[in-house]
Amino acid sequence: TKFEYAPAPESRSVVDIAPSYGLFIDGEFTEAADGKVFKTISPASEEVLAEVAQAGAEDVDRAVKAARKAFEKWSALPGAERAKYLFRIARIIQERSRELAVLETLDNGKPIRETRDADLPLVAAHFFYYAGWADKLDHAGYGTNPRPLGVAGQVIPWNFPLLMLAWKIAPALATGNTVVLKPAETTPLSALFFADICRQAGLPKGVVNILPGYGDAGAALVEHPGVNKVAFTGSTAVGKAIARQVAGTEKKLTLELGGKGANIVFDDAPIDQAVEGIVTGIFFNQGQVCCAGSRLLVQESVQDELLDALKRRLSTLRLGDPLDKNTDIGAINSAEQLARIKALAETGEAEGAERWSPACEIPSSGFWFAPTLFTNVTQAHTIARDEIFGPVLSVLTFRTPDEAVAKANNTQYGLSAGIWTEKGSRILAVANKLRAGVVWANTFNKFDPTSPFGGYKESGFGREGGRHGLEAYLDV
Ligand code: NAD
Repeated sequence: TKFEYAPAPESRSVVDIAPSYGLFIDGEFTEAADGKVFKTISPASEEVLAEVAQAGAEDVDRAVKAARKAFEKWSALPGAERAKYLFRIARIIQERSRELAVLETLDNGKPIRETRDADLPLVAAHFFYYAGWADKLDHAGYGTNPRPLGVAGQVIPWNFPLLMLAWKIAPALATGNTVVLKPAETTPLSALFFADICRQAGLPKGVVNILPGYGDAGAALVEHPGVNKVAFTGSTAVGKAIARQVAGTEKKLTLELGGKGANIVFDDAPIDQAVEGIVTGIFFNQGQVCCAGSRLLVQESVQDELLDALKRRLSTLRLGDPLDKNTDIGAINSAEQLARIKALAETGEAEGAERWSPACEIPSSGFWFAPTLFTNVTQAHTIARDEIFGPVLSVLTFRTPDEAVAKANNTQYGLSAGIWTEKGSRILAVANKLRAGVVWANTFNKFDPTSPFGGYKESGFGREGGRHGLEAYLDV
């Protein structure tokens, strides 16, 4: 449970990983009640990074009780006092961001360039942003008399372990709630490091509790009667199961689920810029992004030009060691995820779509998938409908803006979309017809803590980020 800061080049030695970690309950690292542990590995090398205590129902109960007790004092603090802790946490995250970036890259497999330049700055920004809200909620500052809900049970996925933690914990604490959070089983380490940061910041015991473990611990948390609010990010299947579990209770629920985002390129789009946006849209974090631009909708008249440019650009992507600052494509998070991606890509071929990947060397150990492009894709194809959650782009075409909108909306999901055109009027007209929680124009995968994020349809409900993100944690 000790992390020593050792300034060194961006290498393994930047962060000191202990051989074993406990659960974080009531301000202390402890063993699981039944003594169970699991191993977390580096997906780039399959080497074991650490052994981690595995939470069960008894531990969930202990953590919820600690959070309940802490809630009495935490919720009674003036907002300005809670803000001080959040600002302190934000500053420590900044100070320790190199350690955190390396740790996240080791445990998740994503390129260090992304953890360093995207994940970590955004994590700190969320704590700064919500710290600023804490005292604005007092008295009539919010226009009403907002009250915290109590104990928030939060379950997060492995694709952005620390950023998903920040999206969940920062607004919960700013509004006076206390937290029990379960990180994903393949990426527990940065959440435990965060627990250490809470101690360093002097956060009162029990305000934040971190329970590494599997789906059973997540289910026990969702079910616990002492939990007032459930926040989940992950697969649509588990999200639906959680909605059923919570139905009929007084728990508030927000769900952030899957997506099948359309990146729509019109014939007047700046092609080079669009190519960069398409690459960011689907290859950022190996495509393991809920709002990934996994469907490319290109206007027929520019299809050849765009695909030529895209293939040239894909041939320059570097796949390999995620700790190398030049790496563009890191490892897939787990063997299970790799198997899911492979199976869907094979279905794409079997159903008649045309598969293309640039020549690239796949390392001998670890979980890897080359950037992949499918053309000749129709709306009936599985790869045009199902979330692949990997570096796989399905290319479809359209002739008119109405056809583009119809195809973009022809999905069970509604999380994200992108529009590429020189015409401002077209951006507004198309964006207003898209059933997607976020629409980017001439850019993709840009995030900001001031902006609400969330889905339509089976992408879930509720918003995280911005002022709207507070409402999920308040009774007004
Ligand atoms: P998952 O939904 O199974 O896991 C997400 C989190 O939920 C993990 O912490 C997991 O332990 C927990 N969990 C699992 N079962 C639970 C239950 N019954 N009750 C409470 N918590 C439970 O997702 P996954 O297996 O990691 O990935 C599967 C697919 O989900 C991916 O291929 C992808 O399509 C999608 N996914 C989406 C997102 C997103 O950001 N929307 C993130 C991760 C995965």
